[in-house]
Amino acid sequence: MIFNVLIIGGGVSGMQCALILGSAKNKPFATHKKIGIIMHQRASHLENALFNNVLGLSPKTLGKDILIEGKKQLASLYPHISQIENEKVLSVKEINSIYIIETNKNSYQSKTIVIALNYSKPFTVDGLKEFIIPHKKANPRKDRIQLKNENFLIKKGLYCCGTIAGLPSQFAIAAGSGASVATDILSLWNDNTPTKVHDKIV
Ligand SMILES: Cc1cc2nc3c(=O)[nH]c(=O)nc-3n(C[C@H](O)[C@H](O)[C@H](O)COP(=O)(O)OP(=O)(O)OC[C@H]3O[C@@H](n4cnc5c(N)ncnc54)[C@H](O)[C@@H]3O)c2cc1C
Repeated sequence: MIFNVLIIGGGVSGMQCALILGSAKNKPFATHKKIGIIMHQRASHLENALFNNVLGLSPKTLGKDILIEGKKQLASLYPHISQIENEKVLSVKEINSIYIIETNKNSYQSKTIVIALNYSKPFTVDGLKEFIIPHKKANPRKDRIQLKNENFLIKKGLYCCGTIAGLPSQFAIAAGSGASVATDILSLWNDNTPTKVHDKIV
């Protein structure tokens, strides 16, 4: 099976990207799309974080609870999204416009990938090193990195979001970038007509 989109990284930006893609399941252009997320979470910034300043999150929300609840939300609302657990991505390469993603356990193929890792070093994924530059919005003394991109697009079929996209490390900013990438992908599937997914009270 070839995924239409595979998200790499199950932290803030990756899970938010997956939720928006999943929520488009009833749109004709998204119905049959195969979407997955490599839910590696061991190196997530959420592990030790505590949130008081995020709109919509109750004060004192723990990042480690979001790691668990985010997966549950995705599984219960959008079970068509494959959650790939306990695998670490080792390399990404493109062959004839298809991305091959090797993990420590498996190999996957996808037409589009979203890199939702974070800005910490060392960056251990082979195949993306040509895009690495120093992070433009982090304290230089911390020696953070980002991937070169324009509006989250690195090159055709290859997106990034969250802190690895060069954004400051704040929850709302990381989540927003994941949402932004998801709507860009949905708009592409919608014959390049901008789209969005809203639920409303009827
Ligand atoms: C201690 C702490 C406190 C914080 N407090 C606040 C706060 O009060 N308010 C606020 O707004 N922000 C806070 N933040 C920042 C916020 O948590 C981050 O900005 C946010 O998590 C960044 O999201 P991200 O998607 O870029 O990275 P992450 O959430 O870290 O997600 C990256 C994901 O990539 C995965 N990954 C890494 N390597 C691989 C690999 N090789 N293969 C597959 N997956 C991989 C990781 O496991 C992780 O799941 C805090 C952060 C920390 C560390």
